[in-house]
Amino acid sequence: MNSSTLSGRTALVTGSGSSGGIGAAIVQVLAAAGARVVIADLPHLKASALSQCEALSRYGYEARFCELDVGSQQDWERVIAELAQDGLELDVLVCNAGINSPSAPENQSLDDWERILRVNLTGPFLGMQAVLPSMRVRGGGSIICIGSVSASVVTPPTPGLSNAAYHASKAGLGMLAKTVAINHARDGVRVNVVAPGSVLTPMLARGGKGAELMANTPMGRLADPAEIANAVLFLASDAASFITASTLTVDGGYSAV
Ligand code: NAP
Repeated sequence: MNSSTLSGRTALVTGSGSSGGIGAAIVQVLAAAGARVVIADLPHLKASALSQCEALSRYGYEARFCELDVGSQQDWERVIAELAQDGLELDVLVCNAGINSPSAPENQSLDDWERILRVNLTGPFLGMQAVLPSMRVRGGGSIICIGSVSASVVTPPTPGLSNAAYHASKAGLGMLAKTVAINHARDGVRVNVVAPGSVLTPMLARGGKGAELMANTPMGRLADPAEIANAVLFLASDAASFITASTLTVDGGYSAV
């Protein structure tokens, strides 16, 4: 991969406004590979996103910010229309935005359950609906969903808590990605999942289980967000031209034991 791997392509990464998150690392790696990047996140992350855009432009990379709540169909339509007004259509969509809120299933409010499903599962569904028509017309594109090893293994429970909604959302995301990949395999649109293990980000820090997750990871450490971003770059690039409906696990061996 080099600075022209994604040259001439436009990539939007959801949930990429917060510095230190996986999304911000993906934006940096895609921009360094030559993509025009769109940082999409909630309005309160605008300042952080704009400072990322400034930093990227100092390296000569092209980056812009769009306000986007991934759970809002109206937001998706507005963002796609705004980009189209500037002559931009997406070649790469990275569905990265995700939330978690551990709670014992019997105590979890319906609102909380629906909020997690809306961001982690409905968000990618709406994103795919928004970008597929133009990707099909233009003969292809790459959609990458940030799943999780939580799609297939249950992370060690904290007494009284569980991540049931998170696990369910990430498992559902895997089948959403596979189904859309198969439906559009002949349109040149590839859809894949990157499934991280434990990554050192604000989300993981909030969970307070970093040391335990590190101990349970065969490689004995957490991932750096850039290690997830590099897997995304591979799937976004032509080097992955025959890869669709697949999951690339990036977990230091966590899910194998
Ligand atoms: P993060 O630092 O919390 O970043 C997630 C981003 O998504 C934040 O900027 C967040 O904004 C944003 N977001 C939340 N709701 C949104 C919405 N409705 N619309 C648009 N953006 C929204 O988390 P991360 O650790 O980088 O996680 C990124 C992805 O990797 C997630 O899908 C996560 O499930 C997955 N993942 C993470 C790990 C890990 O160990 N960190 C492991 C496996 C998978 P707010 O800050 O306002 O919430």
